[in-house]
Amino acid sequence: MSFDYDLFVIGGGSGGVRSARLTAAEGFRVGLAEEYRMGGTCVIRGCVPKKLMVYASEFADAFEDARGFGWSVGQTSFDWSKLIAAKDGEIARLEGLYRGNLEKAGVECFDTRAELVDPHTVRLASGQTFRAKHILVAVGGRPFVPDIEGAEHVITSNEIFHLERQPGHILIVGGGYIACEFACIMRGLGSEVTQFYRGAQILRGFDDEVRGHVSDEMIARGINLHLGTDVLSIRRLEDGRFSVKCTNGSVSVVDQVMYATGRVPNTENLGLEAAGVATGRKGEIVVDAWSQTNVPSVYAVGDVTDRVQLTPVAIREGVAFVETVFRANPTRADHETIPTAVFTQPEIGTVGLTEEAARDLEPIEVYRSSFRPMMHILANRSERMLMKMIVSKATRRVLGVHIVGHAAAEMIQMVGIAVKMGATKEDFDATMALHPSAAEELVTMKTPVRSA
Ligand code: FAD
Ligand code: NDP
Repeated sequence: MSFDYDLFVIGGGSGGVRSARLTAAEGFRVGLAEEYRMGGTCVIRGCVPKKLMVYASEFADAFEDARGFGWSVGQTSFDWSKLIAAKDGEIARLEGLYRGNLEKAGVECFDTRAELVDPHTVRLASGQTFRAKHILVAVGGRPFVPDIEGAEHVITSNEIFHLERQPGHILIVGGGYIACEFACIMRGLGSEVTQFYRGAQILRGFDDEVRGHVSDEMIARGINLHLGTDVLSIRRLEDGRFSVKCTNGSVSVVDQVMYATGRVPNTENLGLEAAGVATGRKGEIVVDAWSQTNVPSVYAVGDVTDRVQLTPVAIREGVAFVETVFRANPTRADHETIPTAVFTQPEIGTVGLTEEAARDLEPIEVYRSSFRPMMHILANRSERMLMKMIVSKATRRVLGVHIVGHAAAEMIQMVGIAVKMGATKEDFDATMALHPSAAEELVTMKTPVRSA
């Protein structure tokens, strides 16, 4: 059987680009179709533009804090359109780099939508078809908005990056990563922010103490966080604003409503049925530990498989796929002990088990330190930092570390190495403290606050 390509990749995001590039570098013939912009969610409308906006929003604190250190800060002001233009410039630069690297590696790129026709054939929107020995589906996901009255008026993370004007008052619905990060970004940039979360506490799945600490700090920063609250209906007013009726009976009038209520896999009209590829309840592609679907020639990586929706995970799954299929070295992506951060203000960095999950598994000790970091003293900022370590009583292994505060993401990436290596509490204690730093608390927590 003759093939046009050894590999055809559908989707030019984190997982697809890496897989295509590595396979082409091995000398195989690779084609890739991307229907929107090269780089995918992370580069175009996810991690990267989000982090640029996080940086922008943190200057508000810096200006305030500077006074405590003797600086006189003049009148400050923020220009939304300047930030958006600067961000767009950087995203265009990165998009160019992604495309350039693909082409340099010899990948043939098609700027169009693609779908499967059968286990070895893809069809582009132009009608052109190609036969490929292997097909990799890396189409990612998109924001999910529940079916409420007035849903057509809401924006999602896709649109927030391109708003022409900064909303004076924004309502953010959801209590996960995106809702919490954007509540903090928009507050930092000066918007009035209201956040509705349907459950009892934001950030379900994170350590309970971390959740409580962050929600307290977000409220202290002026975010109007309403727990146990959801939207009933949204109506557009004549002046362009929105009237939002909520489950607690109140009505709010806001300039924008942003939904951040999870993401769903991009698997509709993708030809999966025609090719015989099995999907799960949410439409995700079902794969085994090697990212292979039930159809042997079709693999899938990244968000479309709904395993862990993070960029480094999509990339690692792609690398493992290339090792397995094109380097004859069967490799599973390792989903254990993934460090992750939520770029709220204050920031969360976490790796391993929460206290709640760990105590269900085995007897544990909990070490905790909550303190006002040195950088906040002269600034007269009351915000506290939280560090927490969950330790197995039996093996002394550190099962989880949770940090809330400045640079938590940077710290947890490093702590993640030790936890992944199986470090014990005594290994942490044997490490000399680095003074003065906030991170030194991680090696100086002497007495457990509780056992469970
Ligand atoms: P994607 O990056 O989504 O790429 C899929 C690509 O496929 C897209 O470009 C899409 O246009 C294309 N496509 C879809 N269908 C077709 C088709 N039929 N034909 C051709 N092309 C198609 N993760 C982190 O690790 N850290 C963060 O800080 C972070 N922040 C985030 C912030 C936001 C606002 C969002 C939305 C996500 C964030 N994520 C973050 C998650 C991260 O972006 C995703 O996990 C990652 O991009 C998944 O990569 P992927 O390759 O699976 O899919
Ligand atoms: P999350 O799954 O993190 O959060 C979704 C939120 O929406 C939850 O609070 C959920 O509530 C709520 N929700 C779901 N359905 C409804 C509904 N019908 N009505 C009201 N509320 C609802 O998804 P996000 O969209 O925030 O982010 C998607 C993923 O992208 C994340 O899980 C993460 O993997 C990745 N990401 C990573 C980032 C990072 O690494 N810093 C940043 C941004 C995104 P409940 O908890 O009650 O189910």
